Amino acid sequence: MISIDSNFDSGNIVVEHIASPHEIVLSIRKDAHSDFYQWYHFRLSGARGQPCTIRIINLNGSGYPGGWPGYRACVSEDRQVWRRAETSYDPKADNGTLTIRVAPAVDQLWLAYFAPYSLERHHDLIARIAARPGVAVDVLGHSLDGRAIDRLVIGEGPRTIWLYARQHPGESMAEWWMEGALERLTDPADPVARKLRQLATFHVVPNMNPDGSIRGHLRTNAAGVNLNREWANPSAERSPEVMCVLGTMSQTGCDIAMDVHGDEAIPQVFIAGFDGIPSITETQLALLDKYKARLARLSPDFQTAKGYPRARPGTANLAMSTNQLAERFGCLAMTLEMPFKDNDDLPCAEFGWSPERSKHLGRDCLAAILETLPDLG
Ligand code: ZN
Repeated sequence: MISIDSNFDSGNIVVEHIASPHEIVLSIRKDAHSDFYQWYHFRLSGARGQPCTIRIINLNGSGYPGGWPGYRACVSEDRQVWRRAETSYDPKADNGTLTIRVAPAVDQLWLAYFAPYSLERHHDLIARIAARPGVAVDVLGHSLDGRAIDRLVIGEGPRTIWLYARQHPGESMAEWWMEGALERLTDPADPVARKLRQLATFHVVPNMNPDGSIRGHLRTNAAGVNLNREWANPSAERSPEVMCVLGTMSQTGCDIAMDVHGDEAIPQVFIAGFDGIPSITETQLALLDKYKARLARLSPDFQTAKGYPRARPGTANLAMSTNQLAERFGCLAMTLEMPFKDNDDLPCAEFGWSPERSKHLGRDCLAAILETLPDLG
C-alpha cells in the first residue's frame, strides 16, 4: 500500500488523495499563523519498483511561485545522499502544479524541497563543534516554544564577527553552510582558520529559528513571525529569537556580520548588502564591494552580476538584520543567498545546489573574511 508520511522533524505535506502510484496528489501546509508555504518534506512508502507520479498542487499561492519553474525536487533513499528528480511545473494546472516522477528502488523514498537539516542534526553539530579545542558554547535565549538559541564562540582576536543562519527555517542550505564554516573554523591545522582565530572572535548562531525548523515552516517562527523583519524592534512576545541575539550583539559590538539564506527563485549565489541605510558611508560600501570581489575570486560558485536590486538611498528596511546591523554598528553586514535550484553558471545535473556545495561556500566565505580583516582600519 502506498503511504505518505510527514509527522517528523521538519516534515510538511498534506495528502489530498492517492488513487494509484500515478495519482498521488499533495499540497503544502502553511506556516502556523501565516500565509507562507513552500517547504515540503515527506516520505513515500510502498512504491518499490513502481513508476510514481507525485503532484503538489495549489502552488501559485505559495510564498515564491517563481521558485517552481526550473526547480527539481530533492530525493533520497538513505537520508544521506539527496539527488534531484525529474520535475516539471505547470502554473495552469490546479492553481499551479509541481509534478515529480520517481521510480523508487527501495521501499521508502524521502522527498524534500531541499536536503533537510533536522534539529537533531543541529544538536549533533553543536555538540561536535563544542568538543573541539578553544570553542565555547552557550544559550543566548529561548524561542517561543522554549527551544535554545545556541551560540558558539571561537577565536580570541580583537575583531568581532557574527555569523547566523536560518532566520528562515526552510532555507536548510544555510545550516549546511554553517557546517562547512564551523568545521573549517575549528580545524586545528587549517592555516586560514588559525589566522582567523588569532585576529578575530567569531560568534556563530547556526539556527536562529528552531521552532520553524522542527515544524517544517518555510519562513516564520511558531507565531508566524518573519524574524528577518523584527530587527528594528524585536519583542519577547513575537521574536525572542531576535531579541536575545541582537541584545548580545549590542554587548559584543560587530565588525563583520553574515546572515545566511537561500533564495527560492534566483539560480545563483549572491550577496545583498545594506544599500539605502541612512548613515551609509563610502568606506562601508567599498568594504562590501571588496568582500564580494574576493569571494568571487575564491569561489566560482559566487558571482556579483545577478541578485536583488539595490535599495535607493534612504529606503532601507531597518527591520532586516543586515540593514539594522550596518546602521547600528557602521559595520560590514551581508545577506548571503544560495539557490534552492542550482547555480546556473556552474550547474550540476545530478545534485543541483547541494549540502556539499553549501559547505564549500561556507569555507570560502571564511577565507574572504580573512582577506578583508586588514581593510577594517
Ligand atoms: Zn531567507
